[in-house]
Amino acid sequence: MLSYTEARQKVIEIAGSIPRPLQRTQVEIEEAFGRILAEPVLSDRDYPPFDRSTRDGFAVRAADAQVPGARLECVGELRAGGTFDATVLPGQCVEIMTGAAMPRGADAVVMIEHIKREGTMITLERAAESGDHIVARGSEARTGSLLVAPKTRMGYAEMALAAQAGATRLEVFSSTRLAILSSGDEVVNARSKPGPLQVRNSNGISVEILARTAGAETIQLGNAPDENMALRAAIEHGLEADILVLSGGVSMGKYDLVEQVLADLGAEFYFTGVSIRPGRPAVFGTCRNKLVFGLPGNPVSTMVTFELFVLPAVDVFNGGNPRPVPVFRAKLATPVREKGPMTHFLPSKIEWEGREARVTPLPWQGSGDIVALALANGFLIVAPDRPEIAPAEWVDVLPRRGAI
Ligand code: AMP
Ligand code: MG
Repeated sequence: MLSYTEARQKVIEIAGSIPRPLQRTQVEIEEAFGRILAEPVLSDRDYPPFDRSTRDGFAVRAADAQVPGARLECVGELRAGGTFDATVLPGQCVEIMTGAAMPRGADAVVMIEHIKREGTMITLERAAESGDHIVARGSEARTGSLLVAPKTRMGYAEMALAAQAGATRLEVFSSTRLAILSSGDEVVNARSKPGPLQVRNSNGISVEILARTAGAETIQLGNAPDENMALRAAIEHGLEADILVLSGGVSMGKYDLVEQVLADLGAEFYFTGVSIRPGRPAVFGTCRNKLVFGLPGNPVSTMVTFELFVLPAVDVFNGGNPRPVPVFRAKLATPVREKGPMTHFLPSKIEWEGREARVTPLPWQGSGDIVALALANGFLIVAPDRPEIAPAEWVDVLPRRGAI
């Protein structure tokens, strides 16, 4: 059985091999958050566009300020956006504000905190060197240079950079369409009252939010019963999207029909199980040139397998690079004992003590327990070769997306 990293790699490989012309669309910059850029954003001018003071203080000639105690005559004032028409001559300085353009002749700024003023005479309490507190024109970017490359996921910094360059309409790739289908005779709509032996569809909402956060456009198909014809019809409907994510019906039970129905529809499978717990029965294949995921129905399994396997597929289908699994190290707070040979993902609380992360696995009743999961902000990852881990050992943890 594949490890989760191998299974993930398989998804990325297959997603990249599906012939799928990427559609482009134009959006206003405010709508570009999380989208994948299709066209480069180029610098419309030099940045900064002028030699810019980064402090409130006095623009001086460094040659006049070689030693502390130099006395200079203040001959003017420069505010951000303002101009000073003359040249700063030897023995002179100009009061300058943060963000203002350096006046001709001056080549350093002495901070206001480091001067004494008597009328128009300024005494520098510190020496200055040429270039002090100035960002030179074009030192951040030159006219025409690449600011944001195609395939970049637009976050606030990239969006601010596009805004700075006046790129307020952006060409991005169309979001992949992801259909969500739950299956199970016992599952009812979350808005309806379940019978005593029924459960509400909670995977519908978790998968929808996971998919939207990943950057997919979602199509909610509700729940299908564990019955061949109805399941087949719902799956065929789901295959109209680019990616179909099923939950439930992929285990070994007599009424776990998803794999069979997919096979009847001509699906090709790349894995029908992964060496992880929760999530072992996860299925991945292609059907009619679409990607299909059969995630196990237990809610925590559904969430973990989405994060590990569906998310990178959404990234690839959106035209970007798959995001890495953001695993980091934390110090274990309480002992852990898990049997091999699977990799375990245990709902856990990650906390920081100063700069050190500590992780405490939470008590839980297994992969159906979203009461525990909602109290957790991440997972402790227990590798198969580490069945027993003592407190204070360093372990791998995976944050729960959006909870940290
Ligand atoms: P399955 O993967 O079909 O064997 O289902 C495993 C467990 O997850 C069962 O206890 C189901 O009742 C439960 N389950 C399946 N689908 C959902 C769903 N959409 N929402 C909440 N629980 C579910
Ligand atoms: Mg079921």
